[in-house]
Amino acid sequence: MRREHSLKALLAASFLLLSCLTLLVGIEGGPSTPAQAFAKPSDLDVTYVEREPRYPVYIIDYDEGVPYVAASPENGKTWPDVGEAVTFNAHVVNKGEVAFSGFTYTWRFYAGDGPPLWESTGQYAGVMDPGDGVLVSQGWNWYEASAGGPDHRTHRYPKLVLTIIPNEPDERTANNVREYYPLGKDIAFFVAQDLYDAFNARANATGTYSYEDWVQYQIKAMNEAFDRSTYPLAPDGVRERVNLEAVYVVPAASAANNWRCAGAYISDGIFRANTYRGTWDQPRSGGNCNMGDAGNVDWLNSVIRSVDDGLVHELSHQLGLIDAYNLHAGRWDWPCPGIMGGGDRSPHCGAGTDPSDYYSSQDAVALNLELPYRARYYGEYLFDIPRSMEVRFIARDGRPLRNAYVEIYLEDKLTQRVLTDANGKIALLNRPVPSCASDDQWCDGRAGRPEANPGQWRNPTLTGHSQRDSPFGQIDVIGRNGVLRFKVRAPNGKWESDSILEDRLALDISEANLAYWQGNRDSATFVFDTSLADSEPAPEPP
Ligand SMILES: [Zn+2]
Repeated sequence: MRREHSLKALLAASFLLLSCLTLLVGIEGGPSTPAQAFAKPSDLDVTYVEREPRYPVYIIDYDEGVPYVAASPENGKTWPDVGEAVTFNAHVVNKGEVAFSGFTYTWRFYAGDGPPLWESTGQYAGVMDPGDGVLVSQGWNWYEASAGGPDHRTHRYPKLVLTIIPNEPDERTANNVREYYPLGKDIAFFVAQDLYDAFNARANATGTYSYEDWVQYQIKAMNEAFDRSTYPLAPDGVRERVNLEAVYVVPAASAANNWRCAGAYISDGIFRANTYRGTWDQPRSGGNCNMGDAGNVDWLNSVIRSVDDGLVHELSHQLGLIDAYNLHAGRWDWPCPGIMGGGDRSPHCGAGTDPSDYYSSQDAVALNLELPYRARYYGEYLFDIPRSMEVRFIARDGRPLRNAYVEIYLEDKLTQRVLTDANGKIALLNRPVPSCASDDQWCDGRAGRPEANPGQWRNPTLTGHSQRDSPFGQIDVIGRNGVLRFKVRAPNGKWESDSILEDRLALDISEANLAYWQGNRDSATFVFDTSLADSEPAPEPP
């Protein structure tokens, strides 16, 4: 253990491994605080837990919408090896105004529900003045080989919990316990000193005065939204976890690159803004992070005691989810959207439910599919489309709508004109996606793109999604071509006439994705009820 005299020095410090007393049984529960008046605020805070060593994630670039592996870790290593020694470092900071003479701490490692698999207790006996921070470290072998390695079916476990019991009374105990999920996605935050100080000067939603505690509150809200987002294809919700894994406090003057005052990124070694990943960039008032600016103070006061839905949305982009509002013919008109502004959160609709509390069914499955990976793709789950798709139209009397004219538009472009068959069906034409076989410009020789080659294009992606020919053509990972529109004209209706004998319907790519994930990998049929009659009389000529 090493003591540091400032938080910034602490953040830059390397760790020292503790020798810990490992106890198997007999550790008491959490801390207790005697009823007591505090002359000055006192608060020891476990701000966050990080893991070392980190391994870099893949960096994915999108040239003309095609994902390329622009940088990959040495040997493709993104996780520790089975049996590899790793260290968990907890940051303990004195956020109050009085000194502490140290604390007792206990790590508990939970492999599942029930009592911890192991516990480890120790003490820190140095004086901690206000602002001081120390690292409390715990070693662990990254799964014993005999245990078969990590189980990526769920990241809810293992769970590591650090509890501290300060030697002196601690006025604010909510931050004396901190959870860390070793298999979860680690997120690093950057924050300008001005904003950091302003957060530390205000009571947050947990009742403490700590920027890190405020962020942890947002992270917890995200994990709770994962659990809440249950669907037939995700019966126990999103089995992912996110961690606040690092906080970097920087001078405001350096906050010029892609973010102004605060930002958040998937950490794990490579820190890089990617335009396909949302960045959380707040506050924005006056284009600065000067906390003397009334607009910035208003923003801070509006979020400090609550979950910042905008932040949760942007952090979800870090996990690869796209703006689902793009996937609707009416853009923002989703009847029951989720956190990403679209998709379907049914049955979690109705009074008392909030879109920000749920991931949509599409997003829940997408997040679960990415559990084993650390690669940083964006929207690649959209590639999961049945190999052939057909649409069946139903007349208003419930019978198949036969011999109806259908025009199909991909966004605003007419792509197909076809008549429904005796069952009211049409087959959707697949449109080609570029491939190395069909179009070698996609694979090599492109100026200014040295990384472009078949090996790095990687279709399927490193995360197991294959882009194939589909009615959507080359899929835009931002979702700008994710809607097929159908103009359906009743039998005997005329193309030229703008008669009432016409329905306009839409199929968005999330429905195709969900059909694929339901197991309809080869073919899927989508059914639309129409207001049209199977045998309308022909309209009168004008
Ligand atoms: Zn967004």
